[in-house]
Amino acid sequence: MKPTGAPDDHAAAPLGDGTRAVHAGLPPDEPYAPPLAGPAFAAHYHLPGDPAGAPYTYGRDGNPTWTALERALAELEDPDGTAHAVAFASGMAAMSAVLLSRVRPGDVVVLPDDGYNLLARLRERLEAHGARVRRVPTGGEEQFRALSGASLLWLETPSNPGLDVCDVRALADAAHREGALVVVDNTLATPLGQRPLRLGADVSVASGTKALTGHGDVLLGYVACRDAEVADGVRQWRKIVGAVPGPMEAWLAHRSLATLRLRVDQQARTALAVARALAERPEVSGLRHPGLPEDAAHPLAARQMRRFGCVVSFTLPDLEHAERFLAALRLVHQATSFGGVRSTAERRGRWGGDAVPEGFVRLSVGVEDTEDVVADLLRALDAADRT
Ligand SMILES: *Cc1c(COP(=O)(O)O)cnc(C)c1O
Repeated sequence: MKPTGAPDDHAAAPLGDGTRAVHAGLPPDEPYAPPLAGPAFAAHYHLPGDPAGAPYTYGRDGNPTWTALERALAELEDPDGTAHAVAFASGMAAMSAVLLSRVRPGDVVVLPDDGYNLLARLRERLEAHGARVRRVPTGGEEQFRALSGASLLWLETPSNPGLDVCDVRALADAAHREGALVVVDNTLATPLGQRPLRLGADVSVASGTKALTGHGDVLLGYVACRDAEVADGVRQWRKIVGAVPGPMEAWLAHRSLATLRLRVDQQARTALAVARALAERPEVSGLRHPGLPEDAAHPLAARQMRRFGCVVSFTLPDLEHAERFLAALRLVHQATSFGGVRSTAERRGRWGGDAVPEGFVRLSVGVEDTEDVVADLLRALDAADRT
């Protein structure tokens, strides 16, 4: 028997998610240097002579604050793996970089029809460039049936705002048989909730604006992938269109990663408690949360997700009922977006972009005490019922 507690055993143990999140992307220890250097505000760098091979030349091409964040994101998306990450000014910038740098006229692209609402605007761009786009709902068999001849498959799981889940591994296997590149929008889950590259996807793309940075004060996006050629393509795209993150935003994002595990664990705990409480209410229909054991997507979500995220969606009887509910909330702010430390909710129908009922509410739980969030929601439901 091997002696337990020998130094080698300790060295071999894989790091926990919280430990990884705290240390991700930090430079090697150096006496008297800060653990995470502040943002490098630089439009250009000292650059004598031949610029070939210089790590930093001009501020649109690279920045040491991005480099540190990109290392961190690659470590979280692909622990001990070989992934590259490329940071962008927003999630949309990252999504556009993947789609517009890869897709050629005549290519067949399979997109979800229930994903992030601006994906529909990107589809129009792709079609204008001569791509053929097939739109299919998330989950079920249609995504498999749409794959023949496809060169790119885009998945968003769980989908925003409907919270449907699809089988990344099975779809990636099927899409790879067609030679397609498989992309997963990992915004909702964050890399601590789901690791698309480990599930067989080629690219994980996300908005860092939501749960990843989690404080509602930063717009950011990123692309993570193992193929250096794909990473180079999106890096070139970032440079050409100038979709670069600000150094301050990149630094705030990196700093926020240290609390990612604390935040997503607390959010997942509260989201489940909220979903359980909402399930008891007769006026609530269409309740969805992938962590809820009764949710139709739960068995699949439990196989491929490691945490179930902060979003709970449900439908109240009509527009007025939903507005009364939202107006009666005290702790939960009315706001769009999700994933922040403060709980937020909104009626998605007010935007007109999602195919949802008028009474559909997307709720994002923050890191307040679970009982306080549940109490605020139940009190607002009671108030909306009485009036
Ligand atoms: C918000 C969001 C995006 C877009 O990100 P921005 O940072 O707002 O540009 C993309 N995908 C999903 C699933 C989102 O929720």
